[in-house]
Amino acid sequence: MTDSYENLLKQAYSNITEITESSERFVVPEAKAYVEGKTTVLENFAEIAGKVRRDQDHLMKFLLGELGTSGKIDGNRAIFNGKFEISLIKMIIKSYVEDYVICSECGKPDTRLVKDDRVMILRCDACGSHRPVRKRKARTEPVSENLEEGAVLDVEIQSISKRGDGVVKMGRYIMYVANAKPGQKVKIKISRISGSIVFTERATE
Ligand SMILES: [Zn+2]
Repeated sequence: MTDSYENLLKQAYSNITEITESSERFVVPEAKAYVEGKTTVLENFAEIAGKVRRDQDHLMKFLLGELGTSGKIDGNRAIFNGKFEISLIKMIIKSYVEDYVICSECGKPDTRLVKDDRVMILRCDACGSHRPVRKRKARTEPVSENLEEGAVLDVEIQSISKRGDGVVKMGRYIMYVANAKPGQKVKIKISRISGSIVFTERATE
């Protein structure tokens, strides 16, 4: 009896320590993903959902919506139908954290999602502020209304991929532009769209 009581106490204590730690050093685990056959496996899905303290189904729904595909949770992993770049998955997780986890007032992750009538509210336990969760326009936009092959458009490079290509995230799409640096404005022509991946070539003026 004494033993189990002590264990309980120890357990309760370690839980408290964990919570304090997570809010002080909040680092979302880096996505570990790889392509397996015709699917993409996010190996540490459960770990990521646990760290951001959000419902697995909620995070999964977001990922599927942003990737524009179907998939399933398989134990600690998430499996998406289709081949996706790890950089895209990382970017989606980053926007999930920005939208659904980080308090826009104090920047802390000590938040909860609560439903107020029909609106989803992000409530912050650290500073007490709350805001409606940002509605992402991209999710409701049908594919055909967005980008199509052969289209020419002006884009600004946002980041750089592992292979050294310029990256532009546009709604649910991720666009790769060869020989371009972040911040650079380029005119491109869409050569191919594969799922949410957009391949481009430079368009001449
Ligand atoms: Zn706050």
